[in-house]
Amino acid sequence: MYVYADNAATTAMSQLAIDAMLPYMNKVYGNPSSLHSVGQEAKEALEAARETVAQCLGAQSREITFTSGGSEADNQAIISAARFGARKNKKHIISTAFEHHAVLHTLQKLEKEGFEVTYLDVSRGHNITAQQVKDAIRPDTCLVTVMYANNEIGSILPITEIGAVCKEAGVIFHTDAVQAVGHLHINVKEQNIDMLSLSGHKFHGPKGVGALYCRRGLPLVNVIEGGAQERGKRAGTENIAAICSMAAALKDACDHIDENMPRVAAMRDRLIQGLSQIPHSALNGDAHNRLPGNVSFCFEGIEGEALLLLLDMKGVCASSGSACTSGSLDPSHVLLAIGRVHDVAHGSLRLSLSEYNTEEEVDHILKVVPEVVQYLRNMSPVWRDLQTGKREYIL
Ligand SMILES: *Cc1c(COP(=O)(O)O)cnc(C)c1O
Repeated sequence: MYVYADNAATTAMSQLAIDAMLPYMNKVYGNPSSLHSVGQEAKEALEAARETVAQCLGAQSREITFTSGGSEADNQAIISAARFGARKNKKHIISTAFEHHAVLHTLQKLEKEGFEVTYLDVSRGHNITAQQVKDAIRPDTCLVTVMYANNEIGSILPITEIGAVCKEAGVIFHTDAVQAVGHLHINVKEQNIDMLSLSGHKFHGPKGVGALYCRRGLPLVNVIEGGAQERGKRAGTENIAAICSMAAALKDACDHIDENMPRVAAMRDRLIQGLSQIPHSALNGDAHNRLPGNVSFCFEGIEGEALLLLLDMKGVCASSGSACTSGSLDPSHVLLAIGRVHDVAHGSLRLSLSEYNTEEEVDHILKVVPEVVQYLRNMSPVWRDLQTGKREYIL
């Protein structure tokens, strides 16, 4: 059996999304900036896709800018709000300690330019409260950027409440909603979201395409200079095939949230229930406000990387949520931010489900994960020390 349980990293494209791409490769292949009919046909498809994306978010189509993905949308949103704030001498930004690197690294760049960033503590309940945001807002705050839902541990943040706080204070509110779009109901107007990032490949669309919603009236700054595409806000010939495919995948996901997500959440809960039986383990992330597909655990006395390799051999594709894959031995900044100590953070496992997963696959995961954890513990000197009392259990 082969189980793909790494949907937070990327998803399989749906047949619907693949079919939506094809016409724009060899039939409607024009450049939307061309004045002739082949180009204008592509332009029409582009604008129809923009309208679809806007409708799925409760936005207007002119508020949608297509990008190369979630990372670019995050960069553009944050840099735009920072430049806008700096013009009024507002150089303070509020974020959280467990954002995606697309947000954190952009903020670090701004810190080097003289901006000050408050990273809200996420250790209580593995989440933040709107009150924390409210308490952190200052007269010189130009931006609040907090993710809609965390990609590693699944916590869903109180976005509607934070939107209300930001609106009252007159501070721009951006959310990296890459993990939430297509999985949770979102309405940018009702939730007072000023800017929102999304990415096609997290909801069965293609990779390398995303979008930034930016409320009308807020000025966007280009991060890619060149031609006048996307109302002059993002240069480069539009990736029509990917954009139309993403729009189709998004509409499909949003139309079926109410039937798909309860089923995914039920599989998630069965996994959480089963894996909690493993001694000296702990669930990561908010136990109640949680992405329907996210299961994240720490197991004491093992290395997450070894766990992943053995699980792969047993047909389970998962993730550790650690940065080791990028050549660093530091554990995940997210797990450290919620208060896991280094030793525990190293023994992490993230299983992320989609509506393509089945109950049989959940059974398979529930069979192999406890076996593999026990196998690794039997070989682990750390585990021996814990068992003999030379070392104290943390979990
Ligand atoms: C995947 C992801 C991103 C990056 O999106 P790309 O399209 O891969 O650039 C950003 N933020 C979060 C929360 C993500 O999960």
